[in-house]
Amino acid sequence: MAKVVARPELTWAERLYFVEIFKGMKLTIGHALKTLSNPDTLTTLVYPEVQPDLPQDYRSRHRLMKRPDGDPRCVACYMCSTACPARCIEIEAEEAGDHHIEKRPAVFNIDLLLCIYCGMCVEACPCDAIRMDTKKAILVDDARHKFIISRDQMLDWDPSDYPDTDVTSQEAPGGKLNEEARKAFESGTGH
Ligand code: SF4
Ligand code: SF4
Repeated sequence: MAKVVARPELTWAERLYFVEIFKGMKLTIGHALKTLSNPDTLTTLVYPEVQPDLPQDYRSRHRLMKRPDGDPRCVACYMCSTACPARCIEIEAEEAGDHHIEKRPAVFNIDLLLCIYCGMCVEACPCDAIRMDTKKAILVDDARHKFIISRDQMLDWDPSDYPDTDVTSQEAPGGKLNEEARKAFESGTGH
């Protein structure tokens, strides 16, 4: 059954209309003068000159995590591509060089024009091999094929861009915990 919403009774001043217009203008002009006299109070960004500072857990462009020796953590299990509702992950497996690990991806492409940034691939991964925490959320290019990102593009990241508390990132080559992690990895205890 439809719900009848009562119309508010207008006062004579509201019915005059001009009083409400002046109230609105006062508010608008007040905000304009405040931001003109002190631009730091602006709540909008001068984009694209000023880029937004996104939180670390914002779902942005993907990266592939690395083992301490620099190889991808991915074991080419296809769980992410199976979970992906947009079917935009393409993986081709090959035999891994390390006898502790069965497979690794020879090809790992993601079509960002199909991706809906749902994060299901990250959730599905059993070995923390794919993340969406690069803060690269503004992607611009001039051809469709340039939005298909490859394995090597996703492996190209720097541990210094990630917090010290992010142990997996810091254990990758160039990270603060890499030396120790690499020794453990090479001795076979860090697999
Ligand atoms: S974020 Fe979602 S749509 Fe994009 S690759 Fe991952 S699972 Fe697929
Ligand atoms: S990224 Fe994770 S889920 Fe996807 S194939 Fe590699 S190991 Fe499996």
